[in-house]
Amino acid sequence: MNLKTKKIGLFIDGEFHDSASGTWKEIKNPATGELLAEVAEGSPEDVNRSVNAAEQAFKTWRSISREERSEIFLNIAQKVSENEEYLVYVETANSGKPIVEIREDLQATVDQFKYFAGLIRSAAGSSSKQEGSYITIVNREPLGVVGQIIPWNFPLLMAGWKLAPALAAGNCVVIKPAELTPLSLLTFADIIKDIIPPGVLNVITGKGSLIGESLVSHPKISKIAFTGSTQVGKRISRNTADSVIPLTMELGGKSANIIFPDAPMEKAIEGAALAILYGQGQVCNAGSRLFVHASIYHNVVEKLVEIFKCVKVGDPFDEDTRMSTLISDKQLETVERYIATGVKEGAVLAYGGKRLSDPPYNKGHYLMPTLLTNVTNDMTVAREEIFGPVLVVIPFDTEAEVVEMANDSDYGLAGACWTKDITRALRVANAIDAGLFWINEFHLAPAGTPFGGYKKSGYGRENDVSALEAYSQLKTIYISLSEKPAGWYD
Ligand code: NAP
Ligand code: MG
Repeated sequence: MNLKTKKIGLFIDGEFHDSASGTWKEIKNPATGELLAEVAEGSPEDVNRSVNAAEQAFKTWRSISREERSEIFLNIAQKVSENEEYLVYVETANSGKPIVEIREDLQATVDQFKYFAGLIRSAAGSSSKQEGSYITIVNREPLGVVGQIIPWNFPLLMAGWKLAPALAAGNCVVIKPAELTPLSLLTFADIIKDIIPPGVLNVITGKGSLIGESLVSHPKISKIAFTGSTQVGKRISRNTADSVIPLTMELGGKSANIIFPDAPMEKAIEGAALAILYGQGQVCNAGSRLFVHASIYHNVVEKLVEIFKCVKVGDPFDEDTRMSTLISDKQLETVERYIATGVKEGAVLAYGGKRLSDPPYNKGHYLMPTLLTNVTNDMTVAREEIFGPVLVVIPFDTEAEVVEMANDSDYGLAGACWTKDITRALRVANAIDAGLFWINEFHLAPAGTPFGGYKKSGYGRENDVSALEAYSQLKTIYISLSEKPAGWYD
């Protein structure tokens, strides 16, 4: 598919179709406002059609051999690699993220399929013999038709994180990208459509409030996997309560990043900047609450301001760009509101805080990297997910105090600390309520490492073997070896 075709349908049962409503949505480059394509606006009727196609495909996909499925995954990885430059173009144009980051996302997406291609082959069930009485065989079986809903911040990578384990486990999928960023996933579907049987993967585009709702409550769906806001996550939980299906929820965070006085200082400060500016801060595990020991607070703030001043903000297609446009005006306004609230509650705007509105920035939704100091952990900017390039810096005196503040949050996705004292680092890592913790590092999440949150950051893990488990169910088969039924009266 080439975006120049401009009109892209829903991917159902191996082919692209117009939606039942016959309406189209314009998809624009957030950095320039340029029209990229028109995408079909799906309706509940299309959801139903996709689920039925997936249900049909499941009958054969569930029982093809592990070797064959693994081979298909390696072919997917190969095809995506062969089309990498085009996919990088599509993703950069549609998400507005710097091209250097998009290249990493593409590599990581390919790696998901390679990783699960390997895992499929080792993910057999088990059997055990109980002397003289019975043998059990434990089979791992797929769930059926899985619904997946993904956000706009890592459009193709989040799809890869969800599709690879779900399909590897033998399920068929109906996946909904975010309304703003459907193009990379539709392009992916087009690229792999000849190597995956029809109906195994279905991509439906349209509004979350319409087709997202309809997918979640469809009676034939066996599981929902969601990444996005806590608010929508809660709504999905309520909407699926009656169908009693498993959910995986990845809901964002307000991760604590802690710099101790004995940190490898230059690396720590660069790490703190990257922890918030990567992806313009539109990253669920962003290091958005920086705790700095009082003895080094001013020094660290000064160095962060220097770094923020030098960050190249600009055209996402420029190889030197490190920060680009936010996804939309709505998101930019939300972030600006948070900055204003922070200042009103007593934070000091140490750098940034302004949108970039001179040409060429005026066509996008650009915000300067922003630093708020004199923040306390009870302020709105320290409690709520801003989802923008806004770092709040909070001083601390003791290890016990910083651990308490770090854990005093509704969220628990990630955390990090920077120190040369390994004993302290491990003590803090153990004490922080979060699903991920980095020591002298941030953002690393290669395939094979579980990713997911504690508390209101959600539940379930992706990116490792536990995802394969979450997309399957165990069946225990008992084979009797005795003359009489177990428990017979004699
Ligand atoms: P969102 O509303 O949670 O959207 C995430 C996905 O859910 C999108 O595909 C969306 O579709 C869909 N959706 C929306 N309402 C739905 C419903 N009622 N039922 C089923 N699916 C539904 O996130 P957002 O509005 O794009 O961003 C808002 C905030 O969410 C951000 O500021 C950020 O705090 C958080 N967020 C977190 C992550 C993360 O990685 N954890 C990612 C993105 C956003 P549409 O796109 O069509 O609405
Ligand atoms: Mg929303």
